[in-house]
Amino acid sequence: MPPQPTKSRVSIRKARSTQPISVVTGGAGFLGSHLVDLLIARGHKVIAIDNLVTGSVENIVHLGGHPDFKFIKQDVTEFLFIAGPVDYVWHFASPASPIDYLELPIQTLKVGSLGTHKALGLAKYKGARFLIASTSEIYGDPLVHPQTEDYWGNVNPIGPRGCYDEAKRFAEAMTVAYQREHGVETRIVRIFNTYGPRMRMNDGRVVPAFISQALRHQPITVFGKGRQTRSFCYCSDLIEGIYRLMLGSHPGPINIGNPHEMTVLEFAEEIIRATGSKSRIVFKPLPQDDPKQRRPDIALAQQFLKWEPKVPLAAGLEKTIAYFRGRV
Ligand code: UDP
Repeated sequence: MPPQPTKSRVSIRKARSTQPISVVTGGAGFLGSHLVDLLIARGHKVIAIDNLVTGSVENIVHLGGHPDFKFIKQDVTEFLFIAGPVDYVWHFASPASPIDYLELPIQTLKVGSLGTHKALGLAKYKGARFLIASTSEIYGDPLVHPQTEDYWGNVNPIGPRGCYDEAKRFAEAMTVAYQREHGVETRIVRIFNTYGPRMRMNDGRVVPAFISQALRHQPITVFGKGRQTRSFCYCSDLIEGIYRLMLGSHPGPINIGNPHEMTVLEFAEEIIRATGSKSRIVFKPLPQDDPKQRRPDIALAQQFLKWEPKVPLAAGLEKTIAYFRGRV
């Protein structure tokens, strides 16, 4: 656990209304928009910021006109001006799928570095608590399995994933520096593979790729021999864990994810079954630096957040498939 600040150098929090006020960067993205929904349901006023590069207004359109919701279209690498008090800053903005960050390597590096700096600056100025959405990617192609938070990772800084992995590693370092130097209250969550409605059909990640291929009865493209493993967490479980982390007292980093591990080939078979598809499986080359195995150790989340995932894969897939069925 990173050391807690010995003395707080952050200005006393400004006078608050009784209603908590949250700023969510990346608030129109897949996870950001689910977080916004949860915060509003729990009584927060929410200001969502997104430049809509990979986020979409479609994810927040249902909140249009809601008295507790405001949207600002802005790139978070630029100065963030928010009027009035802020209690919580949730920094979720970033391209998050391998093909997105291959296409947008510099924006990915900038939002993880400059964007994190701006979001931390906002939290410091407002005396707000700050949470960074970090990632299992900071473990790279892990040599420790399952991944515990004290593992430092195995990342290729100049490989195709380096822009994302290193930006998130920088973001964690910057977050801890603001805690130590400025006494900002910070939280670090390491998010493992997550799925659910509002993923982009074409973001290239395995869940939307396989589901859309299956619904169209097209070949399911398994990369490599499909022996690499992943562990898939349903979005509502994930957001609940992150909410508990922010409101609790543990600064993290804490892994949030589902420890149910399966091979990508098993996952392809599960998708064919769940969709009743006639698709067959085809094998394509494994992308460079694709992690061979990934499963979160969630002991810290269980102990400190009293959290573990509840939604079984079949139930989560049913909701996700229903979402994509309306869009293929
Ligand atoms: N994958 C695959 N076929 C696809 C897309 C992805 O076999 O059409 C594999 C990919 O190589 C990786 C796993 O599925 O091993 C998960 O990929 P994703 O892009 O969802 O996220 P990652 O966990 O690699 O960041």
